[in-house]
Amino acid sequence: MGKRDYYEILGVEKNAGQDEIKKAYRKLAMQFHPDRNPGNKEAEEKFKEAAEAYEVLSNQEKRAKYDRFGHSGLKGGQDFHGFSNVNDIFSHFSDIFGGTFGGSSIFDDFFGTSGRSSGGRSRGGGTPGSDLKIVLKLTLEEIASGTTKKIKIKKYKTCSSCNGTGAKDSGSFKTCSACNGTGEVRQVSRSIFGQFVNIQPCSNCSGSGKVISSPCTSCHSEGRVYEESTIKINVPAGVTDNSYMTLRGEGNAGKNGGSPGDIIVVFQELEHEYFTREGDNVIYDLFISFPEAVLGTEVEIPTLNGRAKLKIESGTQPGKYLKMREKGIQHLNRHGAGDQLVKINIFVPDKISAKEKELLKELQKLPNIKVPE
Ligand SMILES: [Zn+2]
Ligand SMILES: [Zn+2]
Repeated sequence: MGKRDYYEILGVEKNAGQDEIKKAYRKLAMQFHPDRNPGNKEAEEKFKEAAEAYEVLSNQEKRAKYDRFGHSGLKGGQDFHGFSNVNDIFSHFSDIFGGTFGGSSIFDDFFGTSGRSSGGRSRGGGTPGSDLKIVLKLTLEEIASGTTKKIKIKKYKTCSSCNGTGAKDSGSFKTCSACNGTGEVRQVSRSIFGQFVNIQPCSNCSGSGKVISSPCTSCHSEGRVYEESTIKINVPAGVTDNSYMTLRGEGNAGKNGGSPGDIIVVFQELEHEYFTREGDNVIYDLFISFPEAVLGTEVEIPTLNGRAKLKIESGTQPGKYLKMREKGIQHLNRHGAGDQLVKINIFVPDKISAKEKELLKELQKLPNIKVPE
């Protein structure tokens, strides 16, 4: 299989600058990020492909080699990684992404949208809010066609009286005396190597340089209040057990205007009364009688979408699977659905009457009923 051109993958011109390349990669990584495409193999491949292209084109030396000799000028494992899984990409690029890999937060660092995971402090001062985790139990029916859930949770919300500032009004601030309004504190230490100056954000004013002189009475100067909220979760069809989705910025509000956390929704699949799931297919065990298997019949059985009729041909063997097309679970992020597979089982009664016994004994003497030798 031929490899795609790296410039084409990132959608940039051959003479594109580093900024443009980084921007293009960022966009693709956002689009095909596994968080946004849980279980989608195609997106995962695109995510890996973009990572490889970015790895090469973001490095001057490798890019020059590629420009001159194409793919054949690069050595796999040395010039590019050949990422086998998504976690590899996170850990390999962790230097660029600016932090350790921790689920979704790494991309916040990379994209510079919050900064709460690496620095623990947002640009405009305040303390970032924490993430919340919700475990959402779903029936197979809900997973099969997707659903919308409304959930009540308690979380910190931005205080509406003070708009998150924590102050009574805009005149309720004074210069922080701990840092004289600079927002930073310097600590000087000495060692055998000389003098070290350690600059840190001022903890008294959370780096804003200002402190509140008269606090907001609704939130006691926190800028946020703890109350019940209703969260709407759009569950796409086809999600898998233990996969998760991130609701950006829906977590706890930050203190004093700090950026909000996320809500991580973890999906859990409930066991079904009739069906077992296999990928996007569902399996149903059907029991029919021996005469029905021999003569054929039509049965009505449950599906994820109400009851449906199924024809059993004469001479159907036990252990056979009959396919009910597209009666399974909708594929995640693409068209179509899995099938319902109906496994044929023969019901063997363990209690029979004297008359039934007599008839069966008669029956088993007949030539076509015996198991052939
Ligand atoms: Zn200060
Ligand atoms: Zn307030």
